Amino acid sequence: MPVDTGWQERAMRQLARMAMQLGAWLAVVLPAAALALAPVQLCSGQAVTPGADGRLLGHIPYAEAPAGELVPVIPFGIGKPCLMQREPAADIVRLVAAARVAGFAGAFRGLSCFRSISYQRTIFCSKIGPGRACRDAAERARSSAPPGYSEHATGFALDIAVGPLTAACRNVLNDCIADLPAGRWLLAHAAEFGFELSFPNGNVQGMMYEPWHWRWVGATPDTPGATRARSLFAFARANFPAAPGIPEIHLPPIWLNALGQPAPVPSPNPGGGGWVGRIEVYAGGGGRRSGWLGREK
Ligand SMILES: [Zn+2]
Repeated sequence: MPVDTGWQERAMRQLARMAMQLGAWLAVVLPAAALALAPVQLCSGQAVTPGADGRLLGHIPYAEAPAGELVPVIPFGIGKPCLMQREPAADIVRLVAAARVAGFAGAFRGLSCFRSISYQRTIFCSKIGPGRACRDAAERARSSAPPGYSEHATGFALDIAVGPLTAACRNVLNDCIADLPAGRWLLAHAAEFGFELSFPNGNVQGMMYEPWHWRWVGATPDTPGATRARSLFAFARANFPAAPGIPEIHLPPIWLNALGQPAPVPSPNPGGGGWVGRIEVYAGGGGRRSGWLGREK
């Protein structure tokens, strides 16, 4: 009787596949999970224990950028200098210049850029307690990250004030800015300069909609600084995609525009231009889009 040894090989292949999948999953989850050990003292009388995934009140932990890495974006900050990592700082300058050309001169200012963990503690804790806006840390965390859990500490995130305001929209920290002409321009073009919206409307992370809060990940993966920014924000991007967001892989716009189109007719000439395969990319709206990848002649 012939002995089927193929099952051993198949089992080994299956095991190898599972190990690879587990490895990819651990790479995203472990950095945060390793921190999920003990209650964190946020403010006086407000100690909170992080969840199993390392998040605290829904927020992801971030370390503070070394001061030597930060540069001021000039003129951009409101009231105080807007400090950022070099790469996003350069892209803000480019974004502001493009906005000027598009008729939105002076429409964007840096409301809040890099924030130290100690400054974040002041912001977070000053609104908790009797007679203040929030009862406790959990309520406060809906609209502000606890100290040690803010993207602002990385130097790769900022709050952009949009103007000019109107009688109907008088607050730069209100959703209404998304419907101002300049706000619409920003939502449509920020990704071209590497910025994506961390907390989109209806985000599954459970955060308030913040159309002013942008994190920088570089317009393409090969943009200098993008690898570092994308690894810092990997957990957030994998679990709570930004919208508008930036695709994980770089494709020429003409190919991206083809995503979602019906299946094309295969190229009659394999050596020439045409379609080479189906792909999936992260896309705005918090999901993935699939489509067909083209090839240039
Ligand atoms: Zn912010």
